[in-house]
Amino acid sequence: MKRDYYEVLGVSKEAGADELKKAYRKLAMELHPDRNPGNKEAEEKFKEAAEAYSVLSDAEKRKVYDQFGHAGLGGAGGGGQQFQFDPGQFADFEDILGSFFGGGIFGDLFGGGRRKSGGEERGSDLQYNLKLSFQDAIFGKDAVELSIPRLEACDTCHGSGCEAGTRAETCPQCRGAGQVAVRQGFFQMLAPCPRCEGRGRIIPKPCKSCHGEGRVHRKSKVSFKVPAGVDRGTRLRLQNQGEAGRFGGRTGDLYVVFDVEQDTRYERDGSDLHRRLEVHWPLLVTGGTLEVETPYGPDKVKLAAGTPADHVVKLVNAGVPRLQGSGRGDLYLHLRVAVPKSLSAEQRELVEQLRRSLEGESDPAEDEGFLAKVFGSEKGKKKKRK
Ligand SMILES: [Zn+2]
Ligand SMILES: [Zn+2]
Repeated sequence: MKRDYYEVLGVSKEAGADELKKAYRKLAMELHPDRNPGNKEAEEKFKEAAEAYSVLSDAEKRKVYDQFGHAGLGGAGGGGQQFQFDPGQFADFEDILGSFFGGGIFGDLFGGGRRKSGGEERGSDLQYNLKLSFQDAIFGKDAVELSIPRLEACDTCHGSGCEAGTRAETCPQCRGAGQVAVRQGFFQMLAPCPRCEGRGRIIPKPCKSCHGEGRVHRKSKVSFKVPAGVDRGTRLRLQNQGEAGRFGGRTGDLYVVFDVEQDTRYERDGSDLHRRLEVHWPLLVTGGTLEVETPYGPDKVKLAAGTPADHVVKLVNAGVPRLQGSGRGDLYLHLRVAVPKSLSAEQRELVEQLRRSLEGESDPAEDEGFLAKVFGSEKGKKKKRK
C-alpha cells in the first residue's frame, strides 16, 4: 500500500507551497543517503518523500491527486499516459537540496535526472495546443499525427557532439567537476567552470553536422491516441517526444494540451452533459414517450402524465467517459415548454376549446386566492430581504 503523500510529508491537506517545501526539506535532510550510509529504510523513505513532494508541489498533479489519489497519477491502474510519475522531474528541485549536498544525488538514486559528471543536459519539454471537436473529445481519437519542430539527436554523432573517432574529454580546468572555487573575501564559493560551462567535459573535435551540440533542428511526425473524455485543459504527456538533450542527455517530454470546440446543443460540465429540450405542452399533460438525441444516438424517454414544465430528465451514463476512473457521466435534459408562434385554424380551434373548458372549470374566487398568494408571497419576500 502506498502511503498518502500528505502523511509522508507530515502536512495537512491545506498546506501551502512554503509549508510543503519546508516539510520536504526537513525530511530530505534527515533521510539523505549521505547521512545514512547503507540504510535502506532511510533511502526508501527519502525517495518516498521526494515523490510526495514532486506531486504536491505541482499544482496540477496535486489537484489530480486530491481528487483521485494515487490511481489518478497513472501508477498501477491509472489513467494511461496521463501524469506518469517521472523520476527526471527531480532535476527540477535538486536546487532545494543542491546547496546542501552539492546536487547530483537524484540522478544516482533514481537513474534519471541530471548527471553533471557526463555533461549531458536533459532536453526541454515541449507543449502543443490541440483543438478537438466536441465529438472527438467525448469519443477520443485513435490516431492523431502532429508535425512537431524540435531538436533531435544528431545522426552523425548520435548525440555525442564529437566528430567520428573522437571522444569528449574531461575538462582540464575543473578536472571534470564542472565547478571551480572562487574566493570572495572570507567566502569561498563554487562557480560554474568557465572552460566547460559547468559540464565537466570538453569536446576537442566537434561534430560538423551539429557543431558539437549533439542535436539538430528537425520537423518530426508524432502520433498518439486521444483518450475518450478529454476536456479543455487536459494535458497528455508523451514521454521522450520533447527535445533531445544536449551532448546525449535525456530527451524531454511533449505535452499535448487540449482545447475543445463548443457544441450548440450541449453544455459540458466535467463528465456530465446538459441539454435544453423543447416539448409540446400536451405531452407533459398526458405523458408519453419522447424521442431524444444523445451523443450515443437516439434514445427514448418516458414522461409521466402531469410532468412539470421545468422537469429535468436524467439519462444515466449518456454523458462523457470519465478520464480517471470508469464509466461515463450523465446527460441531463432540461425540459422547456414549446409555445408555437403560429397554429393552423384547426389547431387554434382545439386550443381555444381546451382553454374555454379549463377556464370554465376553474373557480374565479380560487383565482383571486391564487393571485393573492402570489402577491402575498412577493411582499413576504421583499420584507425578508430588508
Ligand atoms: Zn553531431
Ligand atoms: Zn571545466
